[in-house]
Order: sequence, then structure tokens, then C-alpha cells
Amino acid sequence: MANHKDAVRLMLKTLTDPETGAVKELSEIGAVGHRVVHGGEHFSKATLIDRKVKEAIMECTVLAPLHNPANLQGIEDCELLMPGVPQVAVFDTAFHQTMEEDAYLYAVPYRYYKQYGIRRYGFHGTSHEYVSRRAAALLGRPGGELKLIVCHLGNGASVSAIKNGKCVDTSMGLTPLEGLIMGTRSGDVDPGVMEMIAGKDGKNIHEVVRILNKESGVLGLSDGFSSDFRDLEDAYLAGDNPAATRAIRAFVLRVAKYIGAYAAELNGVDAVCFTAGIGENSPVIRELVCEYLGYLGVELDREQNRVRGKERDVTTPASKTRVLVIPTNEELEIARHTRELVQG
Ligand code: ADP
Repeated sequence: MANHKDAVRLMLKTLTDPETGAVKELSEIGAVGHRVVHGGEHFSKATLIDRKVKEAIMECTVLAPLHNPANLQGIEDCELLMPGVPQVAVFDTAFHQTMEEDAYLYAVPYRYYKQYGIRRYGFHGTSHEYVSRRAAALLGRPGGELKLIVCHLGNGASVSAIKNGKCVDTSMGLTPLEGLIMGTRSGDVDPGVMEMIAGKDGKNIHEVVRILNKESGVLGLSDGFSSDFRDLEDAYLAGDNPAATRAIRAFVLRVAKYIGAYAAELNGVDAVCFTAGIGENSPVIRELVCEYLGYLGVELDREQNRVRGKERDVTTPASKTRVLVIPTNEELEIARHTRELVQG
């Protein structure tokens, strides 16, 4: 599509298409839930949208320059086309707002936090929240008494530590570049790497950050072979592609390191959950990660672990820590928050 406005129009037209639509006319729609990427420190939960909320979303544009303006455009188009229908913003950062300052502050001069809001915000919050609630249901225990580690492994990937239903830490930071090795994002690197690339290749800071976002991760590690785990996994299993093997091993080690850190931070863990494209669909990656988790008493059930895209406990009855596969459902979570706000 040429722009977001055209895309929203087409989406609404598709929704009401006489042949393939889900509703007859737009008047059947009682509320609209919008996924908004960045809520900064303004929003710790889903919120009914009014003028003030839109201003706050605009203010967060400095933190998400590509996403927040597009999200606002979608909101304003829906307001225009569905006048009077409640619009709700569900923020990707909101679930992580329960982190305490020891988890969200960077060890840089404190004034950068106060003046510019430089801190860890975290992303994929809607997914982490949904998966943690499903985990409690699957375990048949109240979420309020569980220690969970959720690994959202997709093109973008993040891990979060959740204690008694609240996020206490997460691997993405000020931007989605921090933490795990991703499809094309580097995740954690020594900032000194940036200075060296800039110096050696004669690049400015924006170019270096672009390289870390678009040319790094498993794509970079595999020397340009692929950012797609289906290709990487096939090559890894064939055993004849050292570049793919290198990328997969590094990816898995990084996930294992975060699980280790969060198990310590939570002082124990009841379940490790896998979700998103890779987490839901890749028995190989799950198995390789679990090989690092012997110290948690994890005993993977290989037969159960063959599952793709279905909720399942993939550990043996004797396993001290559960490992769960839980397909994420951000749309459903957004709809749930929207309904709660509008009905409540
Ligand atoms: P995002 O929403 O961040 O774009 P997804 O959650 O859709 O990402 O995940 C995309 C990733 O999931 C890709 O690397 C893709 O190769 C991987 N993936 C999807 N299906 C499979 C599968 N069957 N086996 C292994 N990896 C898969």
C-alpha cells in the first residue's frame, strides 16, 4: 500500500466485503482495539483513546519514530470512519511498566533518564502477557503465585521474567535492538563494536545502527545465508553448512543465557514458555535450548516436543521445571483488553 491511510481503508472494506467480510456493515463494530508500539512511561495498561491519549502517543514518537505515527494514523482513520465508536490503545510496552528501576535503568549518567527518558521499556508486552496467562491456565495454578520465563522467539525476539503475574525484567530495551540475537538484529553487543565499525568502514552512527538492525543477527552470523529459521534449521540438520550451524548455536546460547539470568533474578522458575514463529514451530531450537537447562531439572519429552503451533507441556512428568509451548495471540489479547475497558 502507498500509505497507512489506504491500508486502513482497504482493511475496513475487506471487513465488510459481501463475499469475504466478517461483518455486514461497520455499524456492527462496538469498539476498536489498536496495537500501539510505544507508550513510554505514560501507559501501564490499555487505555480508552481521547485527545490527551493521542497527544501522549505523539510524545512517544521520539521513542518509536516509525511506529507511533502510523499507529496514530490508524486511530484517526478509524475515528473518522466510525464516529462515536470507542477506540482503545493497547501498548506493546505497557506490560513491562511493572519493572523496578534496578531492572529498567541503564548505568549511564542518571540525567539521561530524567531528561530524555533513556531506559529499558521492553516490547512484545501483549504477547508476554497473553502467554503468561495461558501458562497459568495450562498449569492449573493462579498466575499470582507463579515464576515464569517467556521466550518470544520470532523475527524479533525477547525474553521476559514474570513473577506473580507481573513483569520484573525483559531483554529488549530502549529500542527492540537489545537482548537476544534476532533475524537481522544483533541484540546485545559491546558499544565499542559500534565505534570500531564506524571508524574502520567510515560510517556514521545512523548507518552503524542500521547495520545492527538490518544486516546482523542470524543473517549476519550466517554470512548472509538467511534470516529465516526454516532455512537455517534445514541447513543445520543437513550438517553441511557451518555458517548456519554457527548462527543457530549462537542464537540458542543467547536464549539460554537470558533464561539463566532470569532464573536467578526470579530465584527459581516454575515454567519456561516458548512462543512466536520459532518458539511455537521449531522443536529443534526448543531442544537445543533445553539442553542448557539441566540445572533447572528440565527433562524434555522428545515425543511431546514434536508439536508445532499447539499449546502443550513438552516435559516429562518427572521434570522439575515445566517447559510449555504456547502459541501467542496478540489480537485476542488486544480484543480482551478492549472489551474489558468498554464494558467495564
Ligand atoms: P515476527 O512476528 O517477529 O515477524 P514471527 O513470530 O512470525 O516473527 O516468526 C518468524 C520466524 O519464525 C521466522 O524466522 C520463521 O522462519 C520462523 N518459523 C516459522 N515457522 C517455522 C517452522 N515451521 N520452523 C522453524 N521456524 C519457523
